[in-house]
Amino acid sequence: MAAEKRRISILGSTGSIGVNTLDVINQLGGRDAFDVQAITGSSNISLLAEQALTSGARLAVTADESRYGELKEALAGSTTEVAAGREALIEAASREADWVMAAIVGIAGLAPTLAAARRGADIALANKECLVSAGELFVNAVAEGGGRLIPVDSEHSAIFQSLEDDQHHAVERIVLTASGGPFRTWTRDKMKGVTADIARAHPNWSMGLKISIGSASMFNKALEMIEAKHLFNLRPEQIEVIVHPQSIIHSMVGYTDGSVLAQLGCPDMRTAIGYALTYPNRPKLDVERLDFAKLARLDFEAPDEVRFPALRLARAALQRGGAQGAVMNGAEETAFQAFCEGRIGFLAMADVVERVMDDMVMFPAATDMEGVFAADAEARRLAAEVITKTEMAA
Ligand code: NDP
Ligand code: MG
Repeated sequence: MAAEKRRISILGSTGSIGVNTLDVINQLGGRDAFDVQAITGSSNISLLAEQALTSGARLAVTADESRYGELKEALAGSTTEVAAGREALIEAASREADWVMAAIVGIAGLAPTLAAARRGADIALANKECLVSAGELFVNAVAEGGGRLIPVDSEHSAIFQSLEDDQHHAVERIVLTASGGPFRTWTRDKMKGVTADIARAHPNWSMGLKISIGSASMFNKALEMIEAKHLFNLRPEQIEVIVHPQSIIHSMVGYTDGSVLAQLGCPDMRTAIGYALTYPNRPKLDVERLDFAKLARLDFEAPDEVRFPALRLARAALQRGGAQGAVMNGAEETAFQAFCEGRIGFLAMADVVERVMDDMVMFPAATDMEGVFAADAEARRLAAEVITKTEMAA
């Protein structure tokens, strides 16, 4: 009898992480090894349809209701079922799957990822916004569903891999590495005038637009600090950031005996995705191997919180607790959108987020998901106000 196929779903299959996930799936046997229950995208209908045909996905969903007809037509005559809209996304996430890749970008990923978690799937988490916004409510939802929460973000995968079983009590600190992005050596003055096209060019990693801009502003690292707190149950003072321009050490764990364990590799998300897919085993993957002689050196420098205030804001969010994670995330997504539309400058993103975080410092901590969405909505409303004022003052 043939071995049973692993049932998987990919939320956000048309994005950078989604495409890499399908590549890993193909490397590990494709349709012979995996039964793809559902894939989801939003605007890239032709890619979604192509992925459905090659993976044999049972269901393909676009989040964008207005694109339903296009997707239906592209998949006419195939065995893939087609659906569209927010409810359909949740239905896709709730399908019986053993493993679900959560790779939608932004808070839009929270409801579908939660649905998958509550149904009990193992969650491979790329969508860090779930943890930043919903924190332990999200961690608890996964635990209650009975699945495992396996990080995909390269830093958190590195920490996950460097954590020794039963030694959590001996963890002194974690050190998140940051490439420093394209503006690592730039002055604040020079950063003032950059556009989204300039900011999206990352020196080491090829990623989606949001995270590329977040790497340039270091808001991505800021969100990752909060992500780490919830994933590994850390105190704020245990979370450090070090700039490491080569992105070879993906992050480290420091123990009470002075040892530091790290995970290294070429900057290629397929390693972290493959690990999340086969954990606790390691897959055989066709990715570039590290050549240490060629590398010759690894550099480190302290992050500059004056040029990159996002890090300071993350620390404030960690110390304040309450709803500040959801607030920071909602304000940052709104400011990012306004920056991409050319409405505010690169440096104004942090100003907007700081204003909203300060204004909402007393906003109550969420006790359920409605509370998370309420904090997110209020942060977006306030951020939109600050953005309009900033535009009028310019
Ligand atoms: P992309 O922008 O490349 O892809 C995002 C995916 O989400 C696409 O499938 C997109 O569909 C879909 N999508 C966009 N908007 C919505 C919406 N409103 N509702 C439902 N689906 C939507 O992002 P990345 O792959 O770069 O990132 C995905 C997540 O993984 C993010 O949370 C990011 O922080 C995290 N991550 C990414 C890394 C990377 O290397 N890229 C590394 C570590 C973490 P479509 O394209 O069809 O419009
Ligand atoms: Mg990362």
